[in-house]
Amino acid sequence: MSGIKDYLPFAGEAGVEELFLLAGRLRGRPVRHVNSTAVGGGVAEILTRMMPLLKDLGVETRWDVIKGNERFFRITKAMHNALHGGSDPIGAGDFAFFLEVNRENAREMDLADEINFIHDPQPIALVEERSGRGGRWVWRCHIDFTEPQPAVWEFLKGYVERYDCAVFSAPAFARPLGVRQVLISPSIDPLSDKNRDLPEATVQEVCDRFKIDRSRPVVAQISRFDYLKDPVGVIRAYKLVKPHVDCQLVLAGGGATDDPEGAKVLEEVRREAEGDPDVFVLFLPPASDVEINALQRAATVVLQKSLKEGFGLTVAEALWKAKPVVASAVGGIPLQVTHRHSGILTHSIEGTAYWVKQLLNEPDYAAKLGANGRVHIANNFLITRHIRDYLLTFLSLFESKDIVYL
Ligand code: UDP
Repeated sequence: MSGIKDYLPFAGEAGVEELFLLAGRLRGRPVRHVNSTAVGGGVAEILTRMMPLLKDLGVETRWDVIKGNERFFRITKAMHNALHGGSDPIGAGDFAFFLEVNRENAREMDLADEINFIHDPQPIALVEERSGRGGRWVWRCHIDFTEPQPAVWEFLKGYVERYDCAVFSAPAFARPLGVRQVLISPSIDPLSDKNRDLPEATVQEVCDRFKIDRSRPVVAQISRFDYLKDPVGVIRAYKLVKPHVDCQLVLAGGGATDDPEGAKVLEEVRREAEGDPDVFVLFLPPASDVEINALQRAATVVLQKSLKEGFGLTVAEALWKAKPVVASAVGGIPLQVTHRHSGILTHSIEGTAYWVKQLLNEPDYAAKLGANGRVHIANNFLITRHIRDYLLTFLSLFESKDIVYL
């Protein structure tokens, strides 16, 4: 496991020194992260990498995952979809059950830590406990909040406003709120198995294992099987490209323990892909980081055709590997991709197909986009910047509420 000093080549001496300085000022103030899954999805990905680094900096920190049954995660997935503009029905009984599960979790947790850092809507109501136990409370929202369904947002807002501040990933997600808002975009870890340099032999071995032919172009999307990642739309875009360029499509992803819809989406994807031996639908087990790294490196073009996206770590991962990326202009993706400079932004299946075709036919242009993308990620979206922003936010909780630090 890497220590913070291993990040000197990315953050520089001054950058690493600053992290130690900020961490030193937090001494005696433990931080507790709470989210809803230990495996699968971007939040777990970031916390897994960040926890050891925070500890290495001397920040006393822990990470708890709330427990819930199938009904709870069905309700939270419906809320998640509603916050992304969907219309899954959520009844009064569902909201009551959601609160009951949060209260059960609160009873089992020792929430006396100085800083409670609560991720996303699933554990949001733990904040009910603050009146009895004190501490500072931060709600960290990772999702695309451009068009939340009003009823669900109003319900959550009552809880958000009990926090000291709310952290969003992109300016477009900020909302009228009675508490301070902080913008912090997520990040990737350049030293993780998912992002570190890989020997060419490993990339080849992974492709051989999945029977991917590297003598022909490979278009890839790596994502959980979720409607919001539009995997069926990806296959339709590929089908428009295929008559013009003899390429292959790789759709690789796993599930997340807090996402009960994955199996259904995977089934639809398999149906759409049926009969085409050049479409590879790969359901990956957790801890497939080297495989994902290799598939991203093997890709000629990487897609992220999300319909909504809080940030899209997969975009940063692909750009870090200097890959040309064609991604939807939604949520946090435009923070990472400037159209025709560090990648391509699209709005439809047809637009995606058009640009994939262009990039497959113009490798020099595609390589330039990828190279620019890597610089952009190096400058803005690596884990050391993210840790710095979190430490500053934690410190600001103990200062006057009128001062905005970030
Ligand atoms: N990921 C993974 N295995 C999979 C699919 C995705 O490890 O089968 C990783 C992916 O590489 C990325 C994260 O999970 O690091 C997904 O984060 P993102 O922000 O792209 O989307 P989310 O799943 O949080 O909506």
